[in-house]
Amino acid sequence: MRGTTDFIDKKREKPKEVDALKRVQNWNEYKKPFPEEKLKTQAARCMECGTPFCQMGELIGRQTSGCPLYNLIPEWNTLASQGKWEEAYHRLLLTNNFPEFTSRACPAPCEGSCTAGLVSEPVTIKSIEKAIIDRAFEEGWVKPRIPLKRTGLKVAVVGSGPAGMAAADDLNQAGHDVTVFEKEDRFGGLLMYGIPNMKIEKKYVQRRIDLLQAEGITFKANTEIGKDITLDQLRQQFDAVLLCIGAEKQRDIDIPGRSLNGIYPAMQYLKTSTKHLLEHGEAGEPAISAKGKKVIVIGGGDTGADCVATAIRQGCKSVVQFGKHGELPKERPAHEPWPINPSLFTLDYAYEETLKVFGEDPREYYIQTTEFLGDHNGRVKGLMTVPFSDVPVTEEQFWEADLVLIAIGFQGVNPSETAGVAVANGRIQTRPGSFQTTTEGIFTAGDAKRGASLIVWALQEGKKAAKEIDQFLIGKNEAIEQPSA
Ligand SMILES: Cc1cc2nc3c(=O)[nH]c(=O)nc-3n(C[C@H](O)[C@H](O)[C@H](O)COP(=O)(O)OP(=O)(O)OC[C@H]3O[C@@H](n4cnc5c(N)ncnc54)[C@H](O)[C@@H]3O)c2cc1C
Ligand code: SF4
Repeated sequence: MRGTTDFIDKKREKPKEVDALKRVQNWNEYKKPFPEEKLKTQAARCMECGTPFCQMGELIGRQTSGCPLYNLIPEWNTLASQGKWEEAYHRLLLTNNFPEFTSRACPAPCEGSCTAGLVSEPVTIKSIEKAIIDRAFEEGWVKPRIPLKRTGLKVAVVGSGPAGMAAADDLNQAGHDVTVFEKEDRFGGLLMYGIPNMKIEKKYVQRRIDLLQAEGITFKANTEIGKDITLDQLRQQFDAVLLCIGAEKQRDIDIPGRSLNGIYPAMQYLKTSTKHLLEHGEAGEPAISAKGKKVIVIGGGDTGADCVATAIRQGCKSVVQFGKHGELPKERPAHEPWPINPSLFTLDYAYEETLKVFGEDPREYYIQTTEFLGDHNGRVKGLMTVPFSDVPVTEEQFWEADLVLIAIGFQGVNPSETAGVAVANGRIQTRPGSFQTTTEGIFTAGDAKRGASLIVWALQEGKKAAKEIDQFLIGKNEAIEQPSA
């Protein structure tokens, strides 16, 4: 039974994690399930506020605040606190196509905007979301939903990441015939070949693809639009086309020594690692391996952190991560007042692991690489850095390294894949207030449209684009109901 001041009286708790020294010995997810009684107590901390900022999903400045999927958080928290798990699952499904992904890897901007956080600590929304969807799969409540009617209209979705999958799901449920084209050998976009297995196990991505296939969606792998089929041909064969091709083009560093062996873009490294795991398990070593190496990751963001955690599991000798910026504050800063989701210093899983394995945090702040140095075989042996500063500095430092990973962000879409639509600053351009590109009948959503972002935004955009395509196709919108933004 929920008490009126539970959000103050009961302490926020999160599920336990596998000890860092143990979990680095394998590639499994490391978050343990929450016991039911604890879940109910945590869900009861939600006060079902009249104005739930947690579900508003707005950008305030550059920060995501609240849930971009407008998840009905207080409603499913109440149901969870009463042990009504199946009902909670159906509430969750109203807004979120794939809670098994968001509840594992979303940075949970909902929690930064939770009203309880004003006077106490926020509700553990993400853990409750995970418990609801994991239970729904375990209990067999998640079943293929096969549409009863078909419109006979055909939609091509290019790219099988979260944006493409969400759009394909909603368009299929609306009765359209959906084909998803993917250039890789496996589906899921960055859910499959970007985010490492310990954050989202790949069996869960495949489970969802299998469900979508059972519901009638056709998936075609190893098919690259722009190479195997042109966009123009696709447009002629389908009634509408949706481009969800991500923002794959990575930023690089143009400094002396860049062409030395042993320097790789982060995504090549992460993809090689996951592919090896899926094909060979723990046996042998992937083509790019950190085993026994001194690793430097250039780039202080989340992709860099995933490289750190991957290198540790491969058995690196040491690992350091360079960031251009300083350490984030530990407390909510004045310039990010509630309900803005604040950018705070956290001991992310990768950093906790490095601390335990090597005794120190891998992060080096305010640092800029100026040159890579090689040995006589053309392999990288180290690099030079200077402090990152607005004024020229001469204070150089040498760092030994025999594997360097570049994780300094993404420039946007690959131009070769977007012939036929307008692109500016790496993003596919759309008509004002629309997901339709400059070319009639061709739409876009996700990272390809907004630039490198988050799963939760990709899902939101995929859903909204699907709604617009549905309207474009049949001129009415009975099939796809969405909460208004
Ligand atoms: C290493 C890493 C870790 C991340 N971790 C998180 C996290 O923990 N939490 C979070 O919320 N977000 C995370 N993100 C961001 C998140 O993964 C992305 O924002 C999200 O996947 C974008 O979805 P999308 O569908 O737009 O594109 P993507 O997931 O990039 O999918 C695009 C798909 O299109 C395919 N494609 C591209 N061109 C073509 C073509 N011409 N023909 C056919 N197919 C094509 C690609 O192969 C790919 O499968 C991470 C990103 C990276 C790189
Ligand atoms: S999807 Fe993300 S923002 Fe939305 S409720 Fe789940 S954890 Fe929070």
